[in-house]
Amino acid sequence: MSLGMSAAWTKMQPKKKRCKRCGLYYTKTLSQCDHCSQFDDSQLVTFKKQHQETLKGNSALGKTMFLCAVIIGLFLIASF
Ligand SMILES: [Zn+2]
Repeated sequence: MSLGMSAAWTKMQPKKKRCKRCGLYYTKTLSQCDHCSQFDDSQLVTFKKQHQETLKGNSALGKTMFLCAVIIGLFLIASF
């Protein structure tokens, strides 16, 4: 049953295609990527750099959250 449900869910999702230019996913029904089609080559380099930094920022945030969870955990153990 769960397999059928996930198959139905997959069917409902719009088909995504990976852009060769910027590496991001865009809806298959579009003729071109909606992330980078408006950029020329030099703008695309800047865009990719910014995107990389966003990814780095997210992983740094994840690490901070993990550290907070560990500290809270230690406090909980210490309070017993
Ligand atoms: Zn693209």
